[in-house]
Amino acid sequence: MPTQSTPYLVPLLLVIACLLSLAVYAWPRRQIPGAKVFLLLMVALIAWTLGHLFEWTFLDMSTKFFWVRAQYFGIVAVPVLWLLFTLQTTGRGQLITRRNVLLLLIVPMTTFVGIWTNAYHQQFWVDMTLGLINNAVSLRTTLGIWFWVHATYSYLLLLAGTYVLILSSRKTSHLYRQQLLLLLFGSFAPWVSNAITIFELVPAWKGLDLTPFGFLLTSLTMAWALFRYQLLDIVPIARDITVEKMTEGVIVLNANQQIVDINPAAETLLGCSMADAIGRSAREILAPWTDLVAEFGELPSAQEEISIGQDDHLRYYAVSISPIRDRRERLSGWVIVLRNITERKQMEDEIRQARDEAVIASQMKTRLLANISHDLRSPLGSILGYTEMLQAGVPGPINRKQFNMLTEIIDSTEQLLNFVNNLVEQAQLDSGRVVFKTREFSPDELLEAIQSTARALAHAKSLEINAQVSTDLPSTLSGDPYWLRQIMINLVSNAIKFTDQGRIRVDILPEDATHWAIRVADTGRGIPQDALEDIFEPFEQIDSERSENPTRGSGLGLSIVKQLAALMGGSVNVQSTLGQGSTFSVLLPYKAGAGGKE
Ligand code: ADP
Repeated sequence: MPTQSTPYLVPLLLVIACLLSLAVYAWPRRQIPGAKVFLLLMVALIAWTLGHLFEWTFLDMSTKFFWVRAQYFGIVAVPVLWLLFTLQTTGRGQLITRRNVLLLLIVPMTTFVGIWTNAYHQQFWVDMTLGLINNAVSLRTTLGIWFWVHATYSYLLLLAGTYVLILSSRKTSHLYRQQLLLLLFGSFAPWVSNAITIFELVPAWKGLDLTPFGFLLTSLTMAWALFRYQLLDIVPIARDITVEKMTEGVIVLNANQQIVDINPAAETLLGCSMADAIGRSAREILAPWTDLVAEFGELPSAQEEISIGQDDHLRYYAVSISPIRDRRERLSGWVIVLRNITERKQMEDEIRQARDEAVIASQMKTRLLANISHDLRSPLGSILGYTEMLQAGVPGPINRKQFNMLTEIIDSTEQLLNFVNNLVEQAQLDSGRVVFKTREFSPDELLEAIQSTARALAHAKSLEINAQVSTDLPSTLSGDPYWLRQIMINLVSNAIKFTDQGRIRVDILPEDATHWAIRVADTGRGIPQDALEDIFEPFEQIDSERSENPTRGSGLGLSIVKQLAALMGGSVNVQSTLGQGSTFSVLLPYKAGAGGKE
């Protein structure tokens, strides 16, 4: 097949080599969004240029014509791919649906079919002859109507792509604008080269289609934007939505610590506009944030809370500074994220203050209770004393009715005194003022101390009472008999209070190698299982509606028992069956407990 060699072949070969290199470069990076469209564009451009190259190489008309038609495989695809590329790189990828792509391809596909069937309808080329241009044999064609349809359509698509870029470069932030402007610049190259071709502006290049040269320039800018800037690593639209709308301030610094991007929240925080901030040194802009500036001098990354301003203008920020590294792990800048946490901080302060106030209030309550209760004890004592004297007939004889009334007064006063005593003890426990005077004592001594009170109470309710000290116990124990007596009185008076018939049993006995126990068992009304824990809480009483026979009390007795036992290094437990009775056991160490104060 006859061929010719023209000077055009060299630049065309160069273009192909460049396009091929770009394709080879893009292939391993095809996962980057937009890179696949870019690769297809390279294929289309290579087909176009290669077709053009062969058109020029072969001499005979039919081979030349074949290659002219072959070029159109690329020519019709390029504008479509360009538009798709711009849509994808500006975050409009959602527009690239199968339907839309098919619609875009209608004209190109018709053109392609029209070209190969031109012999039958001559709508694309009306006529074609061989001629000499710059000493080379070339194909001269007279263009038909369909060519112009195709050309107009292609220009419209190119224009649309360029328009998309302009639109985005206006809206997007500084960081991406540079890249989009670069693309925009590249997108003008095919226009210029095409104009030169169609209007034969440079006579020396007559007949040579310069458009592939233009597109080569475009491809270079595309590759630059795509792979060098990694334009699509963060799709701009995603950046726009998230970063622009974030309540957190985001500042991006380059490796020279200059601000390259800043979102509206950061603009407000720093009190300067994006236009003011971009390009300026971070140290300058962040001057009021002195602590922060100190941070990224050396630190590669930091997370911390800082405060700015004073009094009413005091603001707290959570700051996170993270380095940005490129693929080769070189530091290329920092991202600073500032979050206003003033409200959270204020809330924390309020909670802390409320807690402190509650603690103070509780301490005051305890002190007040202790003082009042203490002051109540003496008048109550004299009421009781005088009433007992009245009842005993010391000032003069009294009748039966008066005697009974005085008994009621004595009963109520004793109850009141008991309540006040409990309050005083609870207040002492609350304020940590309980003092244990530990000494050696005999268990019998302990039992005797409560005998008279217990017997009198039991007798009043016609209850049998048995008290016993186990012979297995050592003859002396160690502890504070005063407080141990309080424990026993509380337990025994509860047993009597909540038992209507049967008996009460009080035992002092060994529990295990290290503990002895005070055990008070009754045949009273018992305690519901679900209340067994609660009864040891201060002021906790079983709801009167739950018990058939509500009894008066402060709800403090068992809480005092539990606390005293714990302070003595022991514990208290209860076993109870409703309607059958309860057994309370206080376990105490043989040696006075560590919790007890001397
Ligand atoms: P108070 O006896 O002053 O009400 P306590 O703290 O001593 O307060 O007791 C709490 C509650 O536990 C009592 O109100 C009562 O319901 C229940 N309780 C205590 N001891 C017994 C017992 N031996 N039998 C039945 N219930 C008891």
